[in-house]
Amino acid sequence: MTTVEKLKKYLEEIKKNDSSGKKINSFLELKNEKKLLDEAKKIDEKIKSGKAGRLAGKIIGVKANLNAKGFHASCASKVLENYESTYDSTVVEKIKKEDGLIIGMLNMDEFASGSSGETSAFGPTRNPISPELIPGGSCSGPAAAVAADFCDMTLGTDTGGSIRNPASHCGIVGVKPTYGLVSRYGLIDLAMSFDTIGPLTKDVLSSAVFLNIIKGKDERDTTTFSSVDFNFNEIEKIPKKLKVAILDLGNLEVNPKIKEIFDKTIKLVSEKYGWETEVVKVNHIDLAVQTYYPVVYVESFSGTRKFDGRKYGKKIEEAVGPEFLRRILGGSEISKAEYGGRYYFNALRAKKIIEKSFEDVLNKYDCLVCPTVPRLPHKIGDSISVEEMYSYDVLTCPVNIAGNCAISIPMGKIKNIPIGMQVICGKFKEEKMFQIARSFEKSGVLNG
Ligand code: GLN
Repeated sequence: MTTVEKLKKYLEEIKKNDSSGKKINSFLELKNEKKLLDEAKKIDEKIKSGKAGRLAGKIIGVKANLNAKGFHASCASKVLENYESTYDSTVVEKIKKEDGLIIGMLNMDEFASGSSGETSAFGPTRNPISPELIPGGSCSGPAAAVAADFCDMTLGTDTGGSIRNPASHCGIVGVKPTYGLVSRYGLIDLAMSFDTIGPLTKDVLSSAVFLNIIKGKDERDTTTFSSVDFNFNEIEKIPKKLKVAILDLGNLEVNPKIKEIFDKTIKLVSEKYGWETEVVKVNHIDLAVQTYYPVVYVESFSGTRKFDGRKYGKKIEEAVGPEFLRRILGGSEISKAEYGGRYYFNALRAKKIIEKSFEDVLNKYDCLVCPTVPRLPHKIGDSISVEEMYSYDVLTCPVNIAGNCAISIPMGKIKNIPIGMQVICGKFKEEKMFQIARSFEKSGVLNG
């Protein structure tokens, strides 16, 4: 299929089911159709002449907290509703350089704060598999758009699970890279010491291809490191020897059905390949949520001081929804001098300890595996408590605290609701992570 043909097919599907039909509500903005068709034509010409980049032919959507020139990086908030990006973030620049076609900006939890997509100021996104349910968040749009077959792949951000959680609920693949692998230049941050940018795709290999392109050192983000291209032959090899640590869930609350499917999957795959497995404790993982939120609150408070109404439209405290306001006010409170670092500095200390626990495990094992999300998605509009909402992050936010890489892949369904499993690897071990995830995918055991 040519790029033009594929684009037409996707645009047709979006027209049919995004704002009407199934009303998925994944795109906040789509580029003008004529302009898109012109761009697609040019890409097809490049393909014909053999000069096309590595993403030629790929139709891509971008989460609305990433700057892409000419599009609105609204962060799904009234605060930035009219903010039009004047420049490309590094990741967008790289996509364009490799001839990927960006068609629009995707819905999300407001300022990436949430696990359900319901905090968007522009309405919730529906789960394409079970439309009465949330698709997960905060990458509600990026996950739903891939699952609904509105595009080939999307770009999301993951601060505490925002790529992996909706990937899991929507039955697709989502990757949170190692902190520092992908430049954050041009990302409107939620919490800069946890934020990462990564792909959401239909299969493991597409994520590897996409991540391979967006990664790399960037002078404009000093936390980035240089890296070499992934070896795709290596990724395709099923490891003969592998030491798999199965996360001891201890007293973390995990839906028993999810646990049952997870245990069965690991047993079947490890037996099939002859991999070694052991149930392993990650010390203090039960403190991850309590560590994650104070850091996020303080960093989001600090990061949003620029939205004072003078430059980017509205003053944030006056125009933002309740969840993000909770974070701004909470962050301002707990970082006050009179608390003498009781919360923030203690959280940073706990962060170091949890990071070390992951290092200890991943120095001994090739990977750590666990379900991606401990619970099933709720119905859109159901009133759930803040604590319940934060409990979606129990198994994803520890990886952001540790700074490691992780991938969520579909592992099955419970009453037609997709559930995912997570493969976590050491820092900058993405190639290994893809190899393991690809082996799971090829095992024929997953029934996602
Ligand atoms: N659910 C988490 C939060 O609300 C994760 C968000 C994210 O990764 N952007 O903070």
